[in-house]
Amino acid sequence: VKHPHSDSMYCPKCGQGLATTVPEGDLHERLVCLDCQFVHYLNPSPVAGVVPVRDDGKVLLIRRDIEPQRGLWQVPSGFVEMDESTEETAARELMEEAGLGLSGELQLLNVYTARWGLVVINYEGVAQGEASVEHEVSEVRWFAPAELPWTELAFQSTESALREWMRRRGLGTPEPWATAFEG
Ligand SMILES: [Zn+2]
Repeated sequence: VKHPHSDSMYCPKCGQGLATTVPEGDLHERLVCLDCQFVHYLNPSPVAGVVPVRDDGKVLLIRRDIEPQRGLWQVPSGFVEMDESTEETAARELMEEAGLGLSGELQLLNVYTARWGLVVINYEGVAQGEASVEHEVSEVRWFAPAELPWTELAFQSTESALREWMRRRGLGTPEPWATAFEG
């Protein structure tokens, strides 16, 4: 699968084309500049999100208004910025995508690895305020555990987080996994 960074096939130091090879002393293939020996490391990008929970036990999901997976549901989440902690990213995305704040500390739910270049860190948090439809979102909705839309989830990372959230409450989840889209 195409890595999100694989378009940059030229050496950022000298501009020559990069070759794929295993550098001496390394165990993985890397993109290496055969001119100046620069090694262009590719590593996964971290994404952070939060399963927002209300005092009636419902959780909020957002419906995507952008591709990929437009029209399907996900946990509010996004890419971690350079100056953020993952908790700060999760809180910012919750506000940007659903207009919600948080009260109290975030609790780590799980970490999901998509092997094409993403690591998704999802928290659980107590939501504060009124949810609203924000940027790149077509709908926000509170779901009771029995109402969760397992067959309409956008990403395996969302399904993984919701399964862990259910497991901690002693609630069963569907078998097998419902979501095909790795990410
Ligand atoms: Zn170079």
